[in-house]
Amino acid sequence: MRQIAISVLALVAGWVASAGAQEKSSALNLSLPTENDALFHGGGAAFYQYIIRDFKGVKSMPWEGGQYGFVRNPIEAPGDLVYTRFHEGIDIKPLRRDANGEPTDPVRAIPDGTIAYVNLTPGYSNYGRYVVVEHRWDGASYYSLYGHLASALVQAGAKVNRGDQLGVMGHTGEGIDRERAHVHLELNLLLGRRFESWYDTFYKSEPNRHGIYSGINLAGLDIARLFLALRRTPGLTIPDFLSGEETFYKVTLPASPNFDLIQRYPWLLRRGAPESRPPSWEISFNRAGVPLLVEAKHTAVNGPILSFVKKRAGDYSDVTRGIVGGSGEHPRLTENGERLMRLLIWPD
Ligand SMILES: [Zn+2]
Repeated sequence: MRQIAISVLALVAGWVASAGAQEKSSALNLSLPTENDALFHGGGAAFYQYIIRDFKGVKSMPWEGGQYGFVRNPIEAPGDLVYTRFHEGIDIKPLRRDANGEPTDPVRAIPDGTIAYVNLTPGYSNYGRYVVVEHRWDGASYYSLYGHLASALVQAGAKVNRGDQLGVMGHTGEGIDRERAHVHLELNLLLGRRFESWYDTFYKSEPNRHGIYSGINLAGLDIARLFLALRRTPGLTIPDFLSGEETFYKVTLPASPNFDLIQRYPWLLRRGAPESRPPSWEISFNRAGVPLLVEAKHTAVNGPILSFVKKRAGDYSDVTRGIVGGSGEHPRLTENGERLMRLLIWPD
């Protein structure tokens, strides 16, 4: 309860703060979170921290596994390898180490914002010790996340400017050692304001300790591609950026009054808002599960329905993070997928 109360306070503080000066800014003035800027000079092993891969008994340390996207846990498919495990952010390697080999790189806010959440107990999350910062662009909130920190120097509710230090790079969290120390960086949309009640309904074994700032509730976009795109097009907005993403599946949801994604991200109604509430909404997602478009539909549905998927020969589950199941001509929403869609209209 205490965690929840604190996060609600942080949320209110965030709203009050964001009603002020930040509201006007819409430019994505981003900087990298550490001094490592090799992303802008070819990226590769100088920028990304490697992962340990054991593929059919062969061990390797590919830096590619530190990139955003389907970059982990390869399986053999006909004539190809399919990487089934999705990495929702990027792993940036350290430039500095102390005499004991511990990383000392300061980790900094990538744009201006307000500290939304700080998890100080590494064992409570795969992200280890992590910080979430809320950013307001064109009246909508986005959330950057900095994981595996050795220490966090900020508290929820505080305002930060781009480049302000949030903490020190580390290797807290699941499956990381000192050698592989890095900052895991994400930039997210928020899926559900009522995440806590949704989580408590479906996940009985592990308590939610992070309020609405759980990784499950944050949909991460391709942040490395965004950094590079902003270099070419400095005025780029998030809606512009996401308009280049491929729709991989669509889900139709009952038009619940609790569907607030379009209040949070009005640009999702790219084809205009209907005059009255329609019987259902259809949401387009990319493979990563980032919402790209919302359209009013005239057919009522009782629950989440998979209304489109880009056809492929193999399993859908491998390329949709387990949201769409089945294969070939028989796609369906998995149990997990249906549950996640219900988060968008919770309580349904
Ligand atoms: Zn990572």
